[in-house]
This record gives sequence, C-alpha cells and structure tokens, in this order.
Amino acid sequence: MGFSHLTRGVKCGLRLSNQTNATLALLNRSNFVRNLSVPASAEDTSHWSNDLGTVRNDWTREEVADIFNTPLIELIYHAGTVHRMYNDPRQVQQCTLLSIKTGGCPEDCKYCAQSSKYSKEVGLKAEKLADLDYVYHEAVKAAQAGSTRFCMGAAWRGPSQVGPRQFGRVLEMVTQIRALGMEVCTTLGMLTPDQAKALRAAGLTAYNHNLDTSPEFYEKITTTRKYEDRLETLKNVREAGISVCSGGIIGLGEAEQDRVGLLHTLATLPEHPESVPVNALVAVAGTPMEGAAPPSGLEMARCVATARILMPQSVVRLSAGRLSLSVADQAMCFMAGANSIFAGDKLLTTPNNDKDADSEMFEALGLTGRPPFIGYQSGGPSSDGSEFQPLGQMVEPRRREVSA
Ligand code: SF4
Repeated sequence: MGFSHLTRGVKCGLRLSNQTNATLALLNRSNFVRNLSVPASAEDTSHWSNDLGTVRNDWTREEVADIFNTPLIELIYHAGTVHRMYNDPRQVQQCTLLSIKTGGCPEDCKYCAQSSKYSKEVGLKAEKLADLDYVYHEAVKAAQAGSTRFCMGAAWRGPSQVGPRQFGRVLEMVTQIRALGMEVCTTLGMLTPDQAKALRAAGLTAYNHNLDTSPEFYEKITTTRKYEDRLETLKNVREAGISVCSGGIIGLGEAEQDRVGLLHTLATLPEHPESVPVNALVAVAGTPMEGAAPPSGLEMARCVATARILMPQSVVRLSAGRLSLSVADQAMCFMAGANSIFAGDKLLTTPNNDKDADSEMFEALGLTGRPPFIGYQSGGPSSDGSEFQPLGQMVEPRRREVSA
C-alpha cells in the first residue's frame, strides 16, 4: 500500500497552510530531508515509512494498527524523524493545570476522583468555583515558573449544569489570563455551540475534551454520556474556531486494539487536534480503578510514537502519570515525539512531578521550554496559524557545557 508524497495532505482534503508549505519547501532544499530517507528495516515498514510526515486524516484502522505494532525501536526512530520535520526536538512546552472547581461531578468516569459517585470512597469534598483573583494569581505564578500554557479544569458535566453566572466567571478568567500572553485552555465538560463561541470570544486558545479510549471500550469507562457526545463537543469547539485538545488515557484496562482505536479516531477527525495528551492512568484509591497497574514507559512510548506519526503537526503531550515513569522512560517519549509536559506538583487532584525534578530532567536531557503560540497547523479553520508564530526553529545539536 503506497502513500505517495508530502502533498498527500492536500489530496486527501487537508489544507496545508502557506506557512507549512514554505517550511516543507525549506526542508526539501536542505540536507535535512536527505537524512530522512529511511532505509528499509528487517521488519519492512516501507509502505508507510516512505511517506513520513504527510498530514492526512484518511488513515485506515489497519494502517494505524500496522504502525502501532511496529517493533518499538523502529517505531521510535520513525516517530523521531517525523518529529524533527515540524518541531525543535529539544523544545518541550511546560503547561500548568489548575482545578478551578473540584469534585461533585455528576459523570461516572471510573478513573476519576472527582465523580460524585465515588466521593465517599475517595473522601473528596465538592468545592465551589474558584475566585477570579485566586486563579489569576495562580496563572501569574505558573508563567513566572516557565509555563506557557495555562489549563483550567472544572468538574462539571458542562457549563449548562451551572448557569450563566459561573460560566461568566470562567469567561473572565480566560480573558484575564490570555492577556498575560499565555495560551489558555479549559476543560469544562460538554459544550453547546453557543458556549464554544463565547469561550472563543473571551480569548480561549484551546479546549480540552479527551476521548479517553476507543469507541468500543468507552462504555466500560463511562456510562453517563456517549462517545458521540464527546465527538459533538469537539465539533462545536472546532467550528467555533478554538483549537482542539483531545487525547486519551493509557492503562484503563483496555486492550492494545483499543489504543489503536483511540489513535485512529483522533487521527481521522476532520482536522487533527492541535494538541494530543497521552495520559498514563493514575489509579486513585476509592475509584473503580484503584489498584490498577500504571502502563510501562515502553507502552507510553509506543502510544506517543504512533500519535506523532499519525498527527505530525500536533503537540503530543506527555500528560498525567509521569510520576510512574523514570527520567529514562520520559526521555524515550520525548525522542518518540512528545513535546509537552504538565509542570507543577499537582494535576487537578492527583500528584505530579515537582518543579525541581523537572528542572533536573530538563538539564540532564538538554531540553528547553517552548514559547507560547508556536505553529499548530493541522490545516483546519481552528488551527490555521492565525494566532501562532512561525514554526519553532530547528536547533543544531550543540555540545553540552561541562564544568572543569
Ligand atoms: S473525568 Fe471529568 S467528567 Fe469524568 S467524572 Fe471526572 S471531572 Fe467528571
């Protein structure tokens, strides 16, 4: 099955922006592209590796399974190759995630400490929506600590659950934090078209709404809403001109074919999500997932690498669950194409790697932070690059400074 050329994205209906075309032209002129001519491996991956970096949303599930099942060492090599086509491989964006309304959620996601269904067992009390001042100051602190994207999560079924006053406060938070020069993302549950438009008008950069897992496995995880509801909200977000952030969770008890199903669904949306979080389950005591073993670093790297090959221009975010991964595991994920982490020692309600540990990791791996608003250009109307700077510049490898 041969895929022909980088322009395939145009043929299959995905529009590459002028900026992207210019970048590809530049790459074609350089030695860089020559280095991307990948020799056939013992396990022949040439049917898709010949077209690495092509932006397409007509992947078949068989193709996705084929990529996913590539021997890991080959898969990471190919994913790293794609990663370098569109990103500075040393740049990793630091994002901060703050819970602005904790607990008491009417949904029943089996992994979540915030569902009211498990609140007694988890021992988490429902709180009110946070004050504007508190959230703003948290965003300032996050920016000072190096985060360039600020994400706010509310444990709601959606803004319709709470009415206009509370939603209005969230809109104000978005506007004020956006004025700090940060990318602003919210995750508030299901959105109507009008709510999505209001968030866009307030200045929202991105909206997070994870698909979590495959369409087939979804009802084993959540019963209070359907996969189609998730896709509907993603459509409303996209049509409002907000960048889509959508990914999943690894380690929910899903089979590998569900990981393939999740990645296939994401990569065949009308436009690739600008942002694809790959989370490792953090099993919370009191939830039905209590005691579940976290996925290994190798499993995470396989998912990251497959996402990077399928969605070359998206930011692939190594999100929750990094505490269960060693620095070496995380390094493998960065080599496989991950280019974002959550910074700060708490993610909504679960623990996260602390600032010192991440600073040491950045130092040890030679990573740098990623500025805000750098080229998310999957080609659709909500990520056409209109509010983003040119693509990150590729950085020549440089020698590490070693003190005498
Ligand atoms: S994951 Fe979100 S929607 Fe599901 S229970 Fe938790 S807060 Fe509610």
